[in-house]
Amino acid sequence: MPTGSILVVDDEASVLETLQAILELDGHIVTAVGTGRAALEVLKTQIFDLVLTDLRLDDLSGMEIIAELKRVAPDTVAIVLTGYASLDSAVQAIREGAYDYLFKPTNVDELRLTVGRAIDKRRLSLELRDRLRDLEEANATIQQLALTLSARLLDLQVATDAIQRLNASLQQRVGEATAELTERVQDLAHARDEISALYHAAEAHVDQLQQLDRLKSQFLSMASHELKTPLTAMSINVQMALRRARRNVAATNATPEDRQRERDRDIDQLDMINSQTQKVNRLIDELLDVSRIEGGMLELHFEPVDLYILAQEVVGRLQTLTGTHEIRLTPAMVSGAIVNADRDHLERVLNNLIGNAIKYSPEGGQITLTISLEGDQVVLSLQDQGSGIDPSDLEHIFDLFYRSSDEATRRTSGMGLGLYISKEIVAQHGGRIWAESAQGAGSTFYVSLPRMA
Ligand code: ADP
Repeated sequence: MPTGSILVVDDEASVLETLQAILELDGHIVTAVGTGRAALEVLKTQIFDLVLTDLRLDDLSGMEIIAELKRVAPDTVAIVLTGYASLDSAVQAIREGAYDYLFKPTNVDELRLTVGRAIDKRRLSLELRDRLRDLEEANATIQQLALTLSARLLDLQVATDAIQRLNASLQQRVGEATAELTERVQDLAHARDEISALYHAAEAHVDQLQQLDRLKSQFLSMASHELKTPLTAMSINVQMALRRARRNVAATNATPEDRQRERDRDIDQLDMINSQTQKVNRLIDELLDVSRIEGGMLELHFEPVDLYILAQEVVGRLQTLTGTHEIRLTPAMVSGAIVNADRDHLERVLNNLIGNAIKYSPEGGQITLTISLEGDQVVLSLQDQGSGIDPSDLEHIFDLFYRSSDEATRRTSGMGLGLYISKEIVAQHGGRIWAESAQGAGSTFYVSLPRMA
């Protein structure tokens, strides 16, 4: 059974003692007082677990003690003792805050049980109060924590907002930087393209310069060789003629036959000198033509020219220069092969083409020149039975200074100018020149010129 501190108030001494004794026997610490006033005094200084008071005291009502008790120690439980006659008062006391009531004379067991229950109740209510206090403290702590938490949350929110703003501004900066970078990259790509275009142009220029440089060296070596050969021949013949002339002057006993022989030799050598002079002349003419073409100074005097008649004249003249070739002009007659042309220059084209056909067919053979009218064009074709042209050379033979590297070409003199000049002249007449050939199978050269109405 639970024990506690108990104040017992009763103005009947015997009852007071009995109650005290019973309760002390159960282990309670009992303070017993015989008046209401004494009880009030004790309550000022001590707190009890239970107050057991008679309702009807001589000096005070037990109700007053209960009222005071509620004021000074509201947790202390009160039990009132009352006679059977005053059940109303007992009920009243409970309304005022008493825990229970006992009737007098009191049954001991009931007293002990009720007191035990009351002390239990007091302990429970104290525990409850403690719990409540703990709970309130916990609640306060929780509230404090909640406050701190919400303050933290607020801080966090502020920090999040700041981070978001920072993030947005960073994103904007990154976006701007990326855009700028992209622009730079594009500029760089553009610049790279320009540089590479410039580089290619420079490379092409260098190639061109190198090509020109090669042509220049080639030209110098060819020109010196081509001029040197006829000049050497002329020089030797002049020296021999001179020596002979001096000998003739000194010789007084020369017979008429001797003199005739010497004169024949003179004529041969003068012939030789004459032909070499013409060769040098032709070379110089070709060089002059090239220089005029390159400088854009080639002067053409256009007039209606009958290509068939011109071809007849050239064929007739060149046939006298070769005994090993037969130059044929077909068909026997063509009328209306009129072109608007510079006669001399067109003649030079025919000379070059027929001259080459003779030069590059050292074995002799037939050379066929055909003139035909094809739509609004007059087409001239020249076929020979010579050495032919290798396909790798065919696309270059109209280039300046170009000569094939085959044996037939190496054995003949030339500077690679004739076809270049011919191509330029034909082009300036609004025409076209080309060749078809295979090595060893002869060549055919074509010239196509706009026909005059
Ligand atoms: P050249 O005859 O002075 O070398 P050309 O410009 O007239 O110069 O001819 C260029 C080159 O084309 C010649 O060196 C020769 O290799 C080739 N060629 C021109 N005509 C003929 C031809 N009828 N047969 C074979 N090769 C030719």
